[in-house]
Amino acid sequence: MGEIKEIKDLPGIGTQGAEKLFKANYKTLESIAVASPMELMEVAGLGDKTAEKAIKAARDALEMGFETADKIKKRREKIGKLKTGSKELDALLGGGVETQSITEIYGKMSSGKTQWCFQLCVMAQLPVEKGGLNGNVLYIDSEASFRPERVVEIAKAQGLDPEKTLKNVYVARAYNADHQMLLAEKAEQLIKEKNIKLLIVDSLTSQFRSEYIGRGLLAERQQKLNKHMRQLMKMAEINNIAVLVTNQVMERPDILFGDPTTPIGGNVVGHASKTRLYLRKSKGPKRIARLIDSPNLPDGEAIYQITEKGIEDI
Ligand code: ATP
Ligand code: MG
Repeated sequence: MGEIKEIKDLPGIGTQGAEKLFKANYKTLESIAVASPMELMEVAGLGDKTAEKAIKAARDALEMGFETADKIKKRREKIGKLKTGSKELDALLGGGVETQSITEIYGKMSSGKTQWCFQLCVMAQLPVEKGGLNGNVLYIDSEASFRPERVVEIAKAQGLDPEKTLKNVYVARAYNADHQMLLAEKAEQLIKEKNIKLLIVDSLTSQFRSEYIGRGLLAERQQKLNKHMRQLMKMAEINNIAVLVTNQVMERPDILFGDPTTPIGGNVVGHASKTRLYLRKSKGPKRIARLIDSPNLPDGEAIYQITEKGIEDI
């Protein structure tokens, strides 16, 4: 067997199989390597043995089995830190929003979630020396709340050409939960072609929440959300990009003491998001962000403001 460079080189796949997989949005060896045999059987009609073999071969070709710890260290050294525009917030985050994992911001209406998205759309484009990721942005908008005018205001405040800044943000509207997941799948290809360094999903949960209503559909909703989170996680890790998702909250009537506000999606979303920030509105432009259950940073809060210029220290 020759060297495996693309999908058609995988054992048992060939040109025809590669075409079928391509149509189902499996376009790179990475996408096969992280797929489950079940998925490939469903979308491309592969037999179970063929699917298993193809996945294994893709993983081997990409050296994705066990790896030595020094390699992990090397990969972690590549983690980028995207500055937010507020030193207080950056400090809370241990330097900024990280690449290679999901950062979730949740909070009530008007707490500033979408403003964060606009801000990071701009910050990601800054050179690394200035706290950016020197890259472009993919923006999945499920609430029709993307506002180019705000991106323009924030770009100006950061000394960037507003028109250029807008050209580097690729926006897609997600019309329902399945569509949102499909867009995330399609993102894979764009990430490589367009030097994407930040993927935003605003909001992660609203479509799921409005489609799967009531107890009876909860399990199904959670399964789908879980799949979506895995998808986003893989994308962050494999491509070394930052993934920012926003989440809504609900009031839990069973919590009698303290703040009963809790993010949607339970453990499925909670475990997949490496960094979670709870955003609250304070007086006027003042906002508070609280870091929740970080695996490697102390809990704490940062106070900042949202003005015409975007996110700033007070
Ligand atoms: P939702 O849950 O409804 O999506 P959200 O958390 O996304 O809410 P945002 O849209 O990010 O909320 O925040 C809206 C708030 O941002 C406004 O109430 C206002 O305080 C602030 N804001 C928006 N635009 C500006 C601006 N140009 N200048 C100053 N503050 C602004
Ligand atoms: Mg919003």
